[in-house]
Amino acid sequence: MRPIQKSQKLADVCYDIRGPVLEKAKQMEDEGHKIIKLNIGNLAVFNFDPPDEIVQDMIRNMQGAAGYTDSKGMFAPRKAIMHYSQEKHIHGVTIEDIYIGNGASELIVMGMNALLNSGDEVLVPAPDYPLWTAAVSLSGGKPVHYVCDESAGWMPDMDDIRAKITPNTKAIVIINPNNPTGALYPREVLEQLVEIARQHQLVVFADEIYDKTLYDGEEHISIASLADDVLFVTLNGLSKNYRSCGYRAGWMIVSGEKRHARDYIEGLNMLASMRLCANAPGQFAIQTALGGYQSIQDLVGPGGRLLKQRDLAHKLLTEIPGVSCVKPKAALYMFPKLDPEIYPIADDQEFIRELLIEQRVLLVQGTGFNWIKPDHFRVVFLPNTDDLTEAFGRISHFLEAYRKR
Ligand code: PLP
Repeated sequence: MRPIQKSQKLADVCYDIRGPVLEKAKQMEDEGHKIIKLNIGNLAVFNFDPPDEIVQDMIRNMQGAAGYTDSKGMFAPRKAIMHYSQEKHIHGVTIEDIYIGNGASELIVMGMNALLNSGDEVLVPAPDYPLWTAAVSLSGGKPVHYVCDESAGWMPDMDDIRAKITPNTKAIVIINPNNPTGALYPREVLEQLVEIARQHQLVVFADEIYDKTLYDGEEHISIASLADDVLFVTLNGLSKNYRSCGYRAGWMIVSGEKRHARDYIEGLNMLASMRLCANAPGQFAIQTALGGYQSIQDLVGPGGRLLKQRDLAHKLLTEIPGVSCVKPKAALYMFPKLDPEIYPIADDQEFIRELLIEQRVLLVQGTGFNWIKPDHFRVVFLPNTDDLTEAFGRISHFLEAYRKR
């Protein structure tokens, strides 16, 4: 029989966060091993419950959520998002500029699909949240990675961005706060990015899904608030700030230079209507979440569980010889470096697989985030302090043995 093969469109598409090492972990769990998972930013499985008012409101609204909605989303949640964009000083946003999706993920793919022709280039950070790279490839575009500079707190390297712009560059992706580095970009950095976008007429895709998960009293600035003459597509949602990944509730705001983007917006509208609408219970949740008590503050503020776990994870990690790590200012992740002189790793996926098999701790390798060398990995600091202590003890043992090889 003729083999049934995957589409050639998928040839360059890669999403390693749920890749082969995770399959191995599932197999080990089926065999009865307990694995400490520092691999996925899924808050609910670590007992970070969603705000009760969201859950109650969803249950109450369930009956009224059985029908399709407007393909961009229901009026009330879009209105709530409109108010949110005003709070973030994103100017001129109307209800029509807001699209609700089944998580930001669906809208990231939609935003790229509506824009890209074969050969169009999109600047994507390295490291990145790999859906961005995958979405560009899947849409027929070419992801071109610009480096974020670890020695500068993982800020985007402006010279590298400028050097990589070609006549085919259509857009730039900014992930702020950043997954996997935990970086939070200050105003000066955002202004420089806007200037580059302005000069080269790039669409700015701003992924701001962690914009309330901020430590040490930091503030988040939406890049779309900084200009009216650049087209911004801002992504956000409930998954992280409201601990509701499973509700699949995300949104996209188109703002700035919309007059010259009518055709693109038509494309977005068409793709939004083709998938009919986002799930309606999740839409109800958006309205309640944005209007309600912002309980993420209790987790990230003084004495908060996430803050404590970040501090502990960073301390334990950087006590290991040859491991350095920029302390995250935001989000749920750290992206530590293994000194290549001490840990000469050729294949970081294999390294992570060995760690899993020997110590039953699951991480994701740095190259899974399109990082350029096999010398980093990503840590999710969601497990409780006991589990984090246990996990870093095991990682430390593994690395000690690795040093002696
Ligand atoms: N953007 C970033 C930077 C993420 O880290 C994630 C999930 O981890 C997403 C988007 C996906 O969000 P959603 O659950 O809304 O699809």
